[in-house]
Amino acid sequence: MMDQASTTLKDDLRQAINWLASFGKTENDGVTRLLYDEAWQRAQQALAQKMNNSGLLVRFDDVGNLFGRLPGTEDKAPVILTGSHLDTVVDGGKYDGAFGVLASFLAVDRLRQQFGAPKRTLEVVALCEEEGSRFPISFWGSGSITGAYQQSDAAGLEDSSGVRFIDAMQQAGFGKGDYPAPARNDIACFIETHVEQGSTLELEQNTWAAVTHIVGQQRYTITLTGESNHAGTTPMDRRHDTVYAAARMIAHVIRRAEQAQNGLVATVGRIKVAPNVPNVVPGSCSFTLDIRHHQSDVINRFSGQAVADFRQQARKAGISIQITKWMDALPVPLDPKLAELGYSLAQKAGIPCKKMVSGAGHDSQIFGSYCPTALLFVPSHNGISHSPNEFTKLDDLETGVQMLMKLLHHLAY
Ligand SMILES: [Zn+2]
Repeated sequence: MMDQASTTLKDDLRQAINWLASFGKTENDGVTRLLYDEAWQRAQQALAQKMNNSGLLVRFDDVGNLFGRLPGTEDKAPVILTGSHLDTVVDGGKYDGAFGVLASFLAVDRLRQQFGAPKRTLEVVALCEEEGSRFPISFWGSGSITGAYQQSDAAGLEDSSGVRFIDAMQQAGFGKGDYPAPARNDIACFIETHVEQGSTLELEQNTWAAVTHIVGQQRYTITLTGESNHAGTTPMDRRHDTVYAAARMIAHVIRRAEQAQNGLVATVGRIKVAPNVPNVVPGSCSFTLDIRHHQSDVINRFSGQAVADFRQQARKAGISIQITKWMDALPVPLDPKLAELGYSLAQKAGIPCKKMVSGAGHDSQIFGSYCPTALLFVPSHNGISHSPNEFTKLDDLETGVQMLMKLLHHLAY
């Protein structure tokens, strides 16, 4: 038998990250692992084997979430679930999701070796889907466990090549009732480790964070209708120019976000102009507005003012305006006790750390409204994510696993 003490955590991590990235490796040295595709199936099977070899009790559920269970001596108590998602975006990186799955596996494996059976049952999970990169649905794994989704919610969907969700799922061996239904009611808490996907930690020279909230988001489309007219013969004071009006509205709303200085972010990411030709005063222009913050009332105040300002600006310009809100996702507070516990354990260990808000969505936001949930960040170099250039230093990955071990040890032993 191999002497486990002879491999360091860093060695194990380096090896495990590259191993998992080999399933779905792209020519850019990125990873493409989409729900139920061939690379995804090989990765879930290989991970099941790895968990099994290390003595965990392995099972799938009927949507393809993979669990490795280390039973506690108080077996009837609800389980402590830890993990992240196995799927990636197209040509994504080696760390998003994958690091959280591997960190949980390595942490539980090492705790078992060092301390034996825990009191509370620990379960490692490789969630089947989070990114929404194959079918027009996201958080399929965590949503199925927490009961937010039923299988019928996805069955009719198709991917971009016309493959039906139900067919892809059944081809991968799931959705046929061969495995237990995914919904659970025996989970005490969920703990996810993830790369930050932003540059805050690196810029502040912190190496670890406990996330307190995942931001809420509102998205709007603003459509302006004026009058298309000749660019040469229409005098400036007789125009109903929608691009000029949109430009003033956009400048105004972005300036307000800059001045707020309360962490709110506002983005106009798409503009459409019609007729979109150089020598016509544009009669129609629409733009999107995305607003995020971790407090609902801050978002509501900002968006309410933005809507009122847009209407007033349109009236002044003699342009008609239509405003549609098409997304309103509430902020999700994570468990304050778990965040505080993680933060104080990190401080005690002398790890440069902070509490922070996540501007990106994660499985933790689905679990966060279902059970006490902790989301733990390690830095992302230059904040790059969803790219083959995604990178986190081995030292920081090691800190992430060590912190997860401390937290799980505190909770389960
Ligand atoms: Zn992720």
